[in-house]
Amino acid sequence: MGAPEAFTATTDITHWIGGQRVPSSGARRQAVYNPATGAVSRQLHLAEAVDVNAAVANAQAAFPAWADTPPIRRARVINQFLALMNQHKDTLAAMITAEHGKVFTDAQGEVMRGIDIIEFACGIPQLLKGDYTDQVSTGIDNWTMRQPLGVVAGVTPFNFPVMVPCWMFPVALACGNAFILKPSERDPSPSLFMAELLKQAGLPDGVFNVVQGDKVAVDALLANPEVKALSFVGSTPIAQYIYETGAHHGKRVQALGGAKNHMVVMPDADIDQAVDALIGAGYGSAGERCMAISVAVLVGDVADKVVPKLAERARALKIKNGMELDAEMGPIVTREARDRIEGYIQLGVQEGARLVVDGRGFKVPGHDGGFFTGGTLFDHVTPSMRIYKEEIFGPVLGCVRVPDFAAAVDLINAHEFGNGVACFTSDGNVAREFARRIQVGMVGINVPIPVPMAWHGFGGWKRSLFGDMHAYGEEGVRFYTKQKSVMQRWPASIGKGAEFVMPTAK
Ligand code: NAD
Repeated sequence: MGAPEAFTATTDITHWIGGQRVPSSGARRQAVYNPATGAVSRQLHLAEAVDVNAAVANAQAAFPAWADTPPIRRARVINQFLALMNQHKDTLAAMITAEHGKVFTDAQGEVMRGIDIIEFACGIPQLLKGDYTDQVSTGIDNWTMRQPLGVVAGVTPFNFPVMVPCWMFPVALACGNAFILKPSERDPSPSLFMAELLKQAGLPDGVFNVVQGDKVAVDALLANPEVKALSFVGSTPIAQYIYETGAHHGKRVQALGGAKNHMVVMPDADIDQAVDALIGAGYGSAGERCMAISVAVLVGDVADKVVPKLAERARALKIKNGMELDAEMGPIVTREARDRIEGYIQLGVQEGARLVVDGRGFKVPGHDGGFFTGGTLFDHVTPSMRIYKEEIFGPVLGCVRVPDFAAAVDLINAHEFGNGVACFTSDGNVAREFARRIQVGMVGINVPIPVPMAWHGFGGWKRSLFGDMHAYGEEGVRFYTKQKSVMQRWPASIGKGAEFVMPTAK
């Protein structure tokens, strides 16, 4: 692959309402940075409540005709969008690298995983097919169908500015809803680009809208009675706030939160494969993935074999501007996030963990202002430490030593988060027991980052998800539709006289 073209736009980033770019009604702006250089690249318009309400009104006006459009015709629009996304996938990947910092090849992977969901949404006629029972009683039929909710919204995190919105809007739109996206204020450019592609694909104006902003925008979405459902992905405290506030306002809510993902290495595992997996899953995307592995659970005598290899590999990570094709890890998204991560490293030292590799103060030549930190490795982390309990969301891997399989399972099951988990073993029975007993929503057996494919649905357990339904897949279709049951009979089969008893099958 030749050198990818960097994304260098400098114009203001506005909202997208009614099929066009719309500036904010107010004057609030926020800088968007290139984390590799530390320079401000663009200014983001932050929505006021009035902007959000304008977007909702547009969506509400566009909803009835879109909901009435036959599912196969909606699917054709999504299919056109799919083609455009494939055509422009490297442009999107370069946007991600420019504002998030992750390496370009990883950004390409993110775009592809978003595209998977768009492909899934193209099958909506099949997914919306209802159930039908002929003759539930003599002359009476009963069927169920699923109808769209109306205006629905998505609030998304910085760490997957293309993929996570794609967990939501392709499915919601295919189901016949109108959608409002409130992307992260850190890397908002892909949201407008995707809005333009949807328009090019033939989506009617107003069916998809983007409001840029912060808590003001989110609170306006939560309070607006026309927003019938809200999908959220982000940190646990905000997920809980969204879930509770949304429920208070009578909305359907799915709120995916933070994580602390463990990877168990059993004594019978292939050690080199396990080390490869820990390095990729711990330091890929600088650990800023909700499915990143941040705890290695080393069983029996495995630690003495694994830790030296991890240390060697962590020290050798190629950390540079993500647009360089051999980069393995890019910068952290913001200066504040980098400082928070390095603060946790200091805390780990104070708590008594053994700092094997210290990534603090990492400098990339020619990128002095960039928000870089190196890969960090701790050994002898214990469950009482804050660096074990809390989500650091950076390239910091902690090793916990446990005596046996049962202790590994107990450790993980006691953690407040339950997003992803992995077990590396060559023993089928251990693998089977692990998958059955572990209290975590997404499990990998010799797979470090088991992000489910588009048709399986994504979601954690415990404080990693508030709500009843996972994102995308058939759970997504159920989330964005409500079931209606219809019972019919025709005059010729209606008997004479009023019925005062509960009708039963005749
Ligand atoms: P965040 O919670 O800070 O922000 C997420 C969204 O919420 C953003 O759009 C932001 O503008 C908005 N927001 C922030 N503060 C708010 C407030 N007080 N009121 C209302 N809205 C607010 O998360 P982030 O830093 O963008 O993303 C990283 C977090 O997301 C990590 O905790 C990570 O684990 C989590 N995450 C979880 C999943 C998952 O599937 N479970 C996936 C990706 C990321």
